Amino acid sequence: MRVAIIGAGPSGLACALELQRLGIKPVIIERYHRVGHPVERVDILLHMAWLPVKDQLAYLARKYGLYLHPLAPLHSIVMYSPSHRSVIRSRRLGYLVYRGRSPLSIENQLAARLNSSVVFETIADPRDLAREFDWVVVATGDSKTARQLGLWQEYTNVVIKGALVLGQFDPHTFHMFWDTRYAGHSYGYLAPFDRGRASMHLCVGGIKPEEMDDYWELFLEAENLHYHITETYEQQFHCGQVTRHQVGNILLVGNSGGFVSSLLGLGLFSGMISGVLAARAIASNDDYERLVKPLTRRINELNELRSSLDKLDNHGLDRLVGILGIPGIKHLIYHSGLDIIPKIYAILSEFNKLTFRPQSAHPRHH
Ligand SMILES: Cc1cc2nc3c(=O)[nH]c(=O)nc-3n(C[C@H](O)[C@H](O)[C@H](O)COP(=O)(O)OP(=O)(O)OC[C@H]3O[C@@H](n4cnc5c(N)ncnc54)[C@H](O)[C@@H]3O)c2cc1C
Repeated sequence: MRVAIIGAGPSGLACALELQRLGIKPVIIERYHRVGHPVERVDILLHMAWLPVKDQLAYLARKYGLYLHPLAPLHSIVMYSPSHRSVIRSRRLGYLVYRGRSPLSIENQLAARLNSSVVFETIADPRDLAREFDWVVVATGDSKTARQLGLWQEYTNVVIKGALVLGQFDPHTFHMFWDTRYAGHSYGYLAPFDRGRASMHLCVGGIKPEEMDDYWELFLEAENLHYHITETYEQQFHCGQVTRHQVGNILLVGNSGGFVSSLLGLGLFSGMISGVLAARAIASNDDYERLVKPLTRRINELNELRSSLDKLDNHGLDRLVGILGIPGIKHLIYHSGLDIIPKIYAILSEFNKLTFRPQSAHPRHH
């Protein structure tokens, strides 16, 4: 059986490894000259997002044979809104993981287990390959193919600016910034590689790329983020879903198949699983749509939560961050292991009607 995988990111490589395990040798095509985005960054695996899965790396290893090492376990999340700051501490929050060219990155850890080589510096067109191969797996991390096939439903187009910064950081702490003045209904965040280096991002939905620098300056100023910046990059990220994940012999996985939630852009865990499921569908001629249904159901729940967050103004964000910092609520969300995503959605739907005003428990600056 001849299978082509377009894109050597986490989803494409997870698919390749599963095919390899099932005795099929795929052809993997990657546009860059090596695995990983040129600018390194830190992503998070947030356990709360995919409950009842309690430990995403353990689950990926056990259920999908993907053995991956994190950069560090995530032990605290600091959330900032315009007038509040809440800190959540737990041993079960999730992981910080490396992305990009480093051998430690998720994609390079996966690539290291491949028996077949990747065809680098080649930009492939799925519709051409579909004539040549029995199956084509699209793992390009973008919506291009889904658009060409008329399957894409856009949720939002986010402009992202990222930077590598030097400073002093706690390697187990993730910082998340919400303020509609510089992020609209999106957010900024800072995630450490180690004690001295971090990746910092600002995501803003619905703006033009040329407007980003103004939002970025406002972000740095408002949050007092005066770190030494060594590198920056910008990209656009189309967040959306597809009406179908398979057309003929073309299967869409990872971001290309909409396996990323608009809530915090979480797509690493679901993307890799979709890659493995595509491989299983191909190997056993199974129904890919059926296999991915639980994933898409959960992504829809996360997206609903995101759309209710979209309705909050800065005052609402202050209230939310304040509430998320209340000990009883914190325990319920982060320590109990209960799946509270649907409940948070229900609460947020009613949120603007609430009159509760939590006190700011901390000074504003981090
Ligand atoms: C800035 C940013 C931060 C993020 N943070 C998080 C996070 O903290 N947690 C989380 O869970 N998710 C996060 N995500 C989402 C997550 O990165 C993706 O869901 C995940 O990378 C999906 O992997 P993928 O393999 O589908 O796509 P990608 O990782 O984008 O890989 C696609 C690959 O395909 C290659 N390619 C593209 N087009 C072609 C072509 N025509 N021919 C050949 N090769 C091609 C690319 O070069 C790339 O190597 C983030 C995304 C961004 C942009």
